[in-house]
Amino acid sequence: MYLYNSATHKKEEFKTHTPGHVEMYTCGPTVYHFAHIGNLRSYIMEDVLEKFLRYIGYDVNRVMNITDVGHLTSDADEGEDKMLKGAKRENKSVMDIARFYTDAFFTDCKKLNIKRPDVVEPATNCIDDYIRIVSTLIDKGYAYLAGGNVYFDSSKLARYYVFNDHDEEDLAVGVREGVEEDTNKRNKNDFVLWFTKSKFEDQALKWESPWGVGYPGWHIECTGISLKHNGEYLDLHCGGVDNAFPHHTNEIAQSESFLGHEWCPQWFHVHHLNTTSGKMSKSKGEFLTVSLLEEKGYDPVAYRYFCLQSHYRKALVFSYENLDNAAAAYNKLVGRIAALKNEGEVDQAVFAEYREKFIKQMSNDLNTSMGVTALFDVLKAKTNDATKLAVLADYDRVLSLSLMEKAEERRAEQANAKTAQTECGYTVTGEGDEAIDALVMQRYEAKKAKNFAEADRIRDELKARGIEITDTKGGASWKRV
Ligand code: AMP
Ligand code: ZN
Repeated sequence: MYLYNSATHKKEEFKTHTPGHVEMYTCGPTVYHFAHIGNLRSYIMEDVLEKFLRYIGYDVNRVMNITDVGHLTSDADEGEDKMLKGAKRENKSVMDIARFYTDAFFTDCKKLNIKRPDVVEPATNCIDDYIRIVSTLIDKGYAYLAGGNVYFDSSKLARYYVFNDHDEEDLAVGVREGVEEDTNKRNKNDFVLWFTKSKFEDQALKWESPWGVGYPGWHIECTGISLKHNGEYLDLHCGGVDNAFPHHTNEIAQSESFLGHEWCPQWFHVHHLNTTSGKMSKSKGEFLTVSLLEEKGYDPVAYRYFCLQSHYRKALVFSYENLDNAAAAYNKLVGRIAALKNEGEVDQAVFAEYREKFIKQMSNDLNTSMGVTALFDVLKAKTNDATKLAVLADYDRVLSLSLMEKAEERRAEQANAKTAQTECGYTVTGEGDEAIDALVMQRYEAKKAKNFAEADRIRDELKARGIEITDTKGGASWKRV
């Protein structure tokens, strides 16, 4: 497999420390609010990567942290604590907030067919590990105490890793707009390993440490959790591209200084999902969550399909129009699979040939758009339906688009339906009244045109006539109640 490595800025052959085994680490969510669908784009692409590595025969140990302590609103160990902000907003304790949003995160992941990592570790579980690492860094001369905090001394490094798109000047944290310079720092790139003095008197979670009561810096948690669960040699580290600097840069600095050898040679960064007006945000504009998409009648897996259609190293623009196009393509795909009959013997030679093709496409820096195209190629293949179904199910072990389940649901819907009307991949099934079918279709058209008032009006009208509509995977069904 060839993967782009943002530490070397090159596409390289994927290698592991132990042959056949991958130690993989993913920066997990900060659980102060729901994840937005941009965050989830990163987790979808990392999920495909993990599944593809397993598909081609690797045994994978995937670890994810849950940031339930600290994580400041700015990249520069400054700004307000996001967890505390969430607790204040909802008038709950920080731990209640963390528990609630951790569960919400995994509920969203489940809806998007994102597998739970092998190890999920809340940052608050590993305080002793951070203390041990910070103590060693001080002993080795890589860290110093100033103004009550422990700082990493970046001047002690032979090389302060720089990921793509950042030059030395941009790394000057202190000169960033809106960020006050921390006068305790000896060098501009130094960062906090342990806080005892922060600007926030009411910091909710604090622990005893050799340097006083306080809490860990943001970056140390990933180093601590990865060393604990992945061991000394990490093969692959993942995260969204915004994590490359300073978070991942600082993780490398402290991990390698602690270990005394190279820590993680391969770095996988997923580029952002943006809205048409720019950066996706939890506070500005419409807060795009999986639940919001569901409320608007979208199947979360259609969002996964939307993500897979583009390469992880390109920024992706979200709009409802783009999502509608992806949802229509996905529904058509499911419809075509539903039309296949599981008859005949699987042709093993064809199966092997198609598996090879898929591996070749996906091995080229996780080319998921080619992976999606490959599904349509299978449908066009000159082979029997049983073989096509077997190949599609096999690809779906990696793509996780619920193809077999949705096709089965579609078959069942069609078998039960007395009438069916399909347009642009949207199928209305009902009890045999074309006028009602037409109204349900009009409701869909209204929703597509974002005329939600009209869509609701039609739903109410149907309700008044004793008709209940249920949104299905590929459309809607109705019945008299
Ligand atoms: P956070 O909860 O802020 O720690 O972010 C969780 C993950 O989502 C991190 O890997 C981020 O890099 C990633 N991320 C944040 N914003 C976006 C976005 N707009 N598109 C894709 N990934 C993102
Ligand atoms: Zn991290």
